[in-house]
Amino acid sequence: MSDSKTIQAVRGMNDILPDEAELWLWFEEVVRDWLHGYGYRNIRMPLVEPTALFKRAIGEVTDIVEKEMYSFEDALNGDQLTLRPEATASCVRAVLQHNLLYNAPQRLYYSGPMFRHERPQKGRYRQFHQVGVEALGFAGPDIDAEQILMCARLWRRLGLRDVALQLNTLGDTASRHRHRVKLIAYFEQHRDVLDADATRRLYTNPLRILDSKNPAMQELVAGAPRLADELDEDALRHFDEVQAILKRHDVAFEINPNLVRGLDYYNRTVFEWVTTRLGAQGTICAGGRYDGLVEQIGGKPAPATGFAMGVERLLALLQEDGMALPKAEVDVYVVHQGELASRLASRVAEQLRDGRLRVLLHCGGGSFKSQMKKADASGAAVAVVIGDDEAQANEVSVKPMQGGEQKRVSVQNLVAAVNRIIKQE
Ligand code: ATP
Ligand code: MG
Repeated sequence: MSDSKTIQAVRGMNDILPDEAELWLWFEEVVRDWLHGYGYRNIRMPLVEPTALFKRAIGEVTDIVEKEMYSFEDALNGDQLTLRPEATASCVRAVLQHNLLYNAPQRLYYSGPMFRHERPQKGRYRQFHQVGVEALGFAGPDIDAEQILMCARLWRRLGLRDVALQLNTLGDTASRHRHRVKLIAYFEQHRDVLDADATRRLYTNPLRILDSKNPAMQELVAGAPRLADELDEDALRHFDEVQAILKRHDVAFEINPNLVRGLDYYNRTVFEWVTTRLGAQGTICAGGRYDGLVEQIGGKPAPATGFAMGVERLLALLQEDGMALPKAEVDVYVVHQGELASRLASRVAEQLRDGRLRVLLHCGGGSFKSQMKKADASGAAVAVVIGDDEAQANEVSVKPMQGGEQKRVSVQNLVAAVNRIIKQE
């Protein structure tokens, strides 16, 4: 190391190195296949949005908007911008901007990095990744249930163990309002127990006080007026139907009346998939219904449901289960020495790739022996060996790396010869 300080990545933002990236690529493939199995279509939005979008969508009095957003002013034109802390708001913005919604409902998904200025720890980063799924324009409980069933299928497909489903309903606006009035009255009576966050939220977002993780407030929270007692009939029927569908599909769940979700825009169904194996960062997937959001962002009212999963947390869980990292492999390593041989080697490597084979062409010279060591370490099934005498005859030697005889073949027959060896394995 030199004396001058090396530059490090921003705290809480991770490099994903090639070995680990193999796992990401595998995961992304599984996820894509799973989503297409339910007719969801991909959508991609910018990483940067007008700050106003998140203030309007997520709510001013939330952890995210109050203290977690990377917001900045565009130095060139003064625009107020924010690195997206989540993508539901962007997705709805895009759908409205391009008028995708009102002819037909939409099943959409996206994936990518999100940014939140939180205290970094295991499972909590400042740049993290989500796969998000949104169904826009569906009002019934069938879609809520379908999204939960989808998750259950993905966990099965990934071989995840020990994730439990927690479920709740937040009801609709009128019951939320009745509940809110009662909550404020209750917390006002116990002002001495409220911590600073709770005091600040008392009149702006009292529901969030129920989400408090402060041990000193747990007793107070447990005794608070319950939203469940205020629910009206439509919301109850909706919730009953979601549960009935889950039961018919043998998906186990637990009703958690304190599940209120960090974001303001949810109504009716909310859910979280939780594991006890990642410490405090146990929620791997969270979502629910958000019928008010489309209108809040400026569209004609339309119902919506969605969820997002945290990719880092999911992959950490898989690795904890001892999942072997898949490794990308090459089929062929091309070894060569001599000028004529080198020219033929690069031609032959391209020819093999024309034949859809994965090829490492040795670069950087060295003896045959040292090149063969690299071929061995590469995991290739076949080494193609070229010296000047082979090159003069327009031939190459083909060596199966798992043992077996080295053979000379004409350049013309090379792809077939390599394929024969690979298929035998
Ligand atoms: P938490 O309660 O853990 O802060 P949240 O309610 O803020 O989560 P959501 O906004 O619902 O999380 O995001 C959905 C999922 O994204 C979470 O369940 C989690 O798996 C993941 N997630 C959220 N924040 C982070 C983060 N800072 N680092 C890694 N993953 C995260
Ligand atoms: Mg959070």
